[in-house]
Amino acid sequence: MVQRPKPEPFRIKMVEPIKMISREEREIALKRAGYNLFSLRSEEVYIDLLTDSGTGAMSDYQWAGLMLGDEAYAGSKNYYHLVDNVKDLFGYNYTIPTHQGRGAEQVLFPVLLTEDKPYSISNFHFDTTKAHVELAGGRVINILTSEAFETHIESPFKGNFDLDEVEAFITENGADKIGMVVITVTCNSAGGQPVSMENIRKTSQLAKKHNIPVVMDAARYAENAYFIKQREQGYGQKSIKEIVKEMFSYADCFTMSAKKDPLVNIGGILAFKDNEELFRICQSRTVPYEGFPTYGGLAGRDIEALARGLVESIDEDYLDYRISQVKYLGDRLDEGGVPYQKPTGGHAVFVDAKKMLPHIPYYQFPGQVLANALYLESGVRSVEIGSLLLGRDPDTGENLESPFELLRLTIPRRTYTASHMDVIADGLIAVSNYANQLKGLEFSYEPEILRHFTARLQPINN
Ligand SMILES: *Cc1c(COP(=O)(O)O)cnc(C)c1O
Repeated sequence: MVQRPKPEPFRIKMVEPIKMISREEREIALKRAGYNLFSLRSEEVYIDLLTDSGTGAMSDYQWAGLMLGDEAYAGSKNYYHLVDNVKDLFGYNYTIPTHQGRGAEQVLFPVLLTEDKPYSISNFHFDTTKAHVELAGGRVINILTSEAFETHIESPFKGNFDLDEVEAFITENGADKIGMVVITVTCNSAGGQPVSMENIRKTSQLAKKHNIPVVMDAARYAENAYFIKQREQGYGQKSIKEIVKEMFSYADCFTMSAKKDPLVNIGGILAFKDNEELFRICQSRTVPYEGFPTYGGLAGRDIEALARGLVESIDEDYLDYRISQVKYLGDRLDEGGVPYQKPTGGHAVFVDAKKMLPHIPYYQFPGQVLANALYLESGVRSVEIGSLLLGRDPDTGENLESPFELLRLTIPRRTYTASHMDVIADGLIAVSNYANQLKGLEFSYEPEILRHFTARLQPINN
């Protein structure tokens, strides 16, 4: 028997109605959308698992904070509340709010990456992170532990760097060619998998030895800290707050999408531990890109919600419930024999579509086929992470084969209940019973860049 998830540590004060449209209506909607779930209207979706970004529910305390927005152009009280909370939680002295995580990336990366120092080394660069490295003229190097590519292996820290390979890359290319090391917690692209404290510390020591700045890509710091507490020796008795503080002590600065763990619908942060000079440079750069550095593209009220969300994000009852909800979905899928990246990560379950649909080759997009089948079965919108997302080789024009063909079920924070998890699991288990009859997809329209967002597809009939 699957263990029930921890009950919600909140009660519901306000509701947003959602509705399941009929199977016939879903078929019409999917066809109209060109078999691409990004093109659905959200009202055609019953349970929306496209992303955990900005889709969480704020608390009554955060909503109350919106009324206390100080909309001064410069030096609002909400900004100073945010500064205090960043200092208290992460131990960082200098804070700049930004409109999202990518706003922070755009301000910081061109300062650290130059023509002479093009390389950015990460466990895995998130897609906008990669884009901003490349826009700055840099090159991304992902050096993730090889365990991450074996979905059936139960390993506690599949977000870790392969440190031998990092060292080898530095030796081979020269430390003076490396502009930054980016530690992504948790590692979104590997399935929301955590990085251990030991790996964070050793990565940082290695970078410091070579004078390379360490940037934390901090969207899911609280979930990562929770896994360290659960899984790493010596941390079971520490508070999440202590663990977060130690994690961030190993970096020099962080870029953060506040739409993830900090529980707001919009916002980001760029912060520096003690490098005042770098902070000053970035402060000036913030003005043309994001806005005056005490508001950074956000309204005062949004900054207040963020300052409050940071505190709620490390609440241990909340994290217990959050992670156990994701695990519950994984356990239900196990029971039904649906394969996924193990163990479940912080924010999502990544179903192994390659294993479920072995008859569909990568260039017919098994992850997308599965996503569409799940939508038709139960009105759930999920997202493909595989060869459709990866795109074509810019030189040869060939479809690239992704090492993973995954279906991501991304769980918004504090938004859906355990019964919703059952609807999702039941839907996927039902699909798995006729998976061998599903047909591959081909393009009817393929945009040149970021094709997965706007492509139109059609089932291959033969
Ligand atoms: C979401 C995310 C970003 C980008 O943040 P936005 O707020 O979407 O701009 C960067 N890195 C990671 C790991 C993310 O998950």
